[in-house]
Parts: sequence; structure tokens; C-alpha cells
Amino acid sequence: MLFSDIIGQKLIKEKLIGTVATNRVAHAQLFYGNNGYGKLALALAYAQFVSCRDADKLQHRDSCGKCPSCVKYNKLIHPDLHFILPVASSPKMDDSKNPSSNQVLKEWRQLLDRKSYYITLNDWYHEIDIDQKQANINTRDCSNIIHTLSYTSYESEYKVMIIWMVEKLYHAAAPRLLKMLEEPPDKTLFLLIAEQTEQILPTILSRLHLVKIPAITNQSLYDACRQRLGMNEATAAEAARLANGSFTQAMLLHEMGDELSENFQRFRNWMRLCYSVDVPAILKMSEELGKETREKIKSFLRSGLIILRNCLLTGLDMENLVRTTREELDFYKRFSPFVHQGNINQLVEEFDAAIYHVERNVHGGMIMLDLSLTISKLLKIKKLQPVAQ
Ligand SMILES: [Zn+2]
Repeated sequence: MLFSDIIGQKLIKEKLIGTVATNRVAHAQLFYGNNGYGKLALALAYAQFVSCRDADKLQHRDSCGKCPSCVKYNKLIHPDLHFILPVASSPKMDDSKNPSSNQVLKEWRQLLDRKSYYITLNDWYHEIDIDQKQANINTRDCSNIIHTLSYTSYESEYKVMIIWMVEKLYHAAAPRLLKMLEEPPDKTLFLLIAEQTEQILPTILSRLHLVKIPAITNQSLYDACRQRLGMNEATAAEAARLANGSFTQAMLLHEMGDELSENFQRFRNWMRLCYSVDVPAILKMSEELGKETREKIKSFLRSGLIILRNCLLTGLDMENLVRTTREELDFYKRFSPFVHQGNINQLVEEFDAAIYHVERNVHGGMIMLDLSLTISKLLKIKKLQPVAQ
């Protein structure tokens, strides 16, 4: 990761380069800020810069990208670069009874590569197919730190330990991490990453040099939406406005937009069938949907949730909060009387439950049939009219 590959964040980049120029690289630093601002990307660019062998790197204000160290950093396979990540038992691990970060490094590299280093916790959990409720930075990994770092560095001046999402640190693992931060091995750079500082133990926090990563500016986000996501001018402007400085949010909007237009027609037909309780047609459609892949069914249901939300907002005369085409807006308007405060919570719960069941391999056709019949009932709940004065 080069600094030039980071979206925006000019000031932070200069500050980080400055610490190397003045030989003031703090041994333990916490990069914190909201998801999608580029904390992980910055930490990796910084680590690569510190380790880059190019004599002119300070002058160029970036790593060279070509020296032996950079080549390994580009692929995240440098022997002096280590990661600790929130994990849980995963089918991707050889020894899933004893989960550890080392067992899923291949998946970690793939995910970072695919998403250009801008990822969410959900992306990660999804990548390694784990139950997020049980994921944490565990004691095993923290003990491994001590082991790993007790070796002298192989190739670089610095060994780098990146601990991603440190708020997920399991409480029993904290003493080990703390010990490392208090008595750091020589020439080791700890780069911790978190979204919030409040959930981090004060004893750990007090050992860290804090680097606050601000939101990406609208202009930089707009440029990234145009160049990296291929959005047109209007969509990019809208996405930059809605994403609140977060590139992962912008990516999500991008994916949702594609998903939504793909699923819209089908969803509209489905709602018509549910409303008219056309059971034979519902059966047929459920069967058809059930034959799709799990991902497709989930995508369809997620789009459904967005469409329902949009109908609700339209019904509340808040359609300016809805990103939409004219055809979609027309449907939201006509369908909005049937989606309201009297049934929206139940509808959302039913969709969430269906997504949950799809993830757990319940037969897709059965899920869609059950959901259709429940929706038929929920759509008949009358909207409460305001009492006339
Ligand atoms: Zn280099």
C-alpha cells in the first residue's frame, strides 16, 4: 500500500511521513476513527514506508513500491509484518477448535486485495464465515505475539504488528497485550486500529500514541467514487454526500444501488402477489426464487428491506431521503399506504429472520413461501388514521 493509494487524508499522511523524517516513530500507536475513513490502509502504508529501503523515500514522500521490502508489503507477505484479527471458529481454519489469526491470513489478504484495504468487520466475518457474536481478539493470538516478536526481525529494521479492531480484545487477553506494550521488544512497531476509543481498556489506551483519522473530505470521496467505483457525476456526488466521509459506506451504496435495480421489478411483482394473496402464483414464485443461490436470495431480501424503508419514508412525505428512479418512486408512492408504523417493525423482523434462515441453509423455497404468506397478513394491517380534530 502506497500513501498515494490512500483516498484523501493529506494531512495525516504528511504527519506520518514527518515522524519517519524526524526519527520519532512512536513504538505503539492507535489509529482511530469511523469505519471507512482509511485507518487500516493508512497503517499499512505507514508500515510499508517505515520498512521501505529506498534512499529517496523521504524526498518522494512515499514508499518506492519496488524495493524487496515493498514488493513483499504489496502482497502482505513480508516476514516482519504480522496481524492480529478478531476471529472465531471458522470452517476455513485447519484447527477450528483453536481459532487463531494465522489460520485465516490467506482470506485476510484476499479480502484486502479485493476491497483495496477498505473493509468493515462484517466483510471480515463474512469472508471467514463466522458467527460475529463470538468473534474476538483471543488469548492464543496475544500469546503468539510474544513468541513471534521474541525472534529478531528477519529482513527489516522494524517488526510490525498490526492489531485490527482492538475493541474486540477479549478481556482475558488484555494482560498479555499490555505486557507487550509496557516492555516492547526492540524495534517493534505496534499499530493498533479501532473505531472507538471508549471500549478500549484505559490501561492499554494510556500506553498508546493516539492518531485520530478524520472523515474523508467530500471532494476526495467524490473523486474515489468516480475513479474507483466508476460512478457517473450525479451518482458520485450523491454517494459522497450520503457516505459521511466513509469509503466503505460509498461502496455499500454502490453495491446496494446495483442490487436494488436488479431486484426491483421482481420485488414489485412479489408484493402484488402477496397483497392479492394469489397462492398458486406465490407458490410458483417461491419455488423459482428457491432455486437461486443463497447469495442471490439474500440480495433479493436485502433489497426488499430497502424498498420497504423507501415506501415508509415516501408515506411520511420524506421521499427526498430516498435515492431513486422515477419508476421506483412511482411504486413507493402507490405502495406506501400498505407500509406504515403499524406493520413496519414486524415486516423488518420477518425479512431479517428470512435472511438468517437463508444463511443457515434452510430450503430457500420454503423460506420464501413462509415469508410471502406472513407478508400477505401484515399488508392487511390497516394504517391508523390521525384522529380528526
Ligand atoms: Zn520500497
